[in-house]
Amino acid sequence: MTETDLRELGERALEEIAGAGDEAELERLRLLYLGRRSGLISRRAAALAQLPPERRSELGREFNRAKQAVEEALGRRQAELALGAAPPAPAGMDLSWPRRALERGHQHPVARLIREIEDVAAALGFESVRGPEVEDDRHNFELLNLPPEHPARDTHDTFYLEGPAQGWLLRTHTSPVQLRTMMAGPPPYRIIVPGRVYRRDNPDPTHNPVFFQVEGLCVDEGVSLADLKGTLTYLIGAIFGPERGVRLRASYFPYTEPSLEADVSCGFCRGGGCRSCLGKGWIEILGSGMVHPQVLRNAGLDPERYSGFAFGMGPDRIAALKYGLEDIRDLYENDLRLLEGF
Ligand SMILES: [Zn+2]
Repeated sequence: MTETDLRELGERALEEIAGAGDEAELERLRLLYLGRRSGLISRRAAALAQLPPERRSELGREFNRAKQAVEEALGRRQAELALGAAPPAPAGMDLSWPRRALERGHQHPVARLIREIEDVAAALGFESVRGPEVEDDRHNFELLNLPPEHPARDTHDTFYLEGPAQGWLLRTHTSPVQLRTMMAGPPPYRIIVPGRVYRRDNPDPTHNPVFFQVEGLCVDEGVSLADLKGTLTYLIGAIFGPERGVRLRASYFPYTEPSLEADVSCGFCRGGGCRSCLGKGWIEILGSGMVHPQVLRNAGLDPERYSGFAFGMGPDRIAALKYGLEDIRDLYENDLRLLEGF
């Protein structure tokens, strides 16, 4: 056996295959050359194995080339014969016209981030819950320690409904779902609440009157600040990656005591300070705290027996940070040229 011998065998096979007139003949040629035991090419494999190693590798290359060329030719001729056997195209239809590229869609970056947060929280035993977007003052404010005269209400520029819906409002946060859950049945609760919220903000690069929040609540006997810290550290690490630092700072919210804000180290400067983080090296991403005893009482729970924590974050803001968007409104304008890039 020589290279020439193999090459000639291959060429003869290709010629015969290209001339095969129907599928039966093609099958005959396939057996003749590639049949497992007695095929003209397959038989050479056994001879190849008897050769000394250097010779075997040289000839082996030629052998593989010939075998592959024959396999491809068989496939090609089969496709040609199948096409020839198909009924003729209707008049006026050109089957050789290239097809239009298929476009694949994907989830919106905010939807994907919400799904991601839900998945991470689910691994910690949090169940996803939805609530109404039209709320009453009681659930949106009063039961959350925000009575009518409370100054913190000013930070929630609220859309109040008029006409027959007078007395109702568009929820300014997802927190009313905490109350609805706690009032619906006894603890323990571990819920994650994604949804739209509304505030009368003027649209600008960091504000939009409609945005998303994801809220978490955990209430049971013996839930402590350490549980909150552990949950947040895990959650933030899972969303941003383990290389980013997490920092908790004391803060104030009317419905938690104590209250904490969580920062993640800036992904651009790695904590050194840059334009993105306004030189701070950290970016605020989440508010949280231990559920205020009065809120538990408002929900009909005994704060002597139960305790819990809550946290809330803005997936739009996190998506903007994650993808380096300068203007949060880019996420809502549905410009496909931009969204395709995510
Ligand atoms: Zn930075």
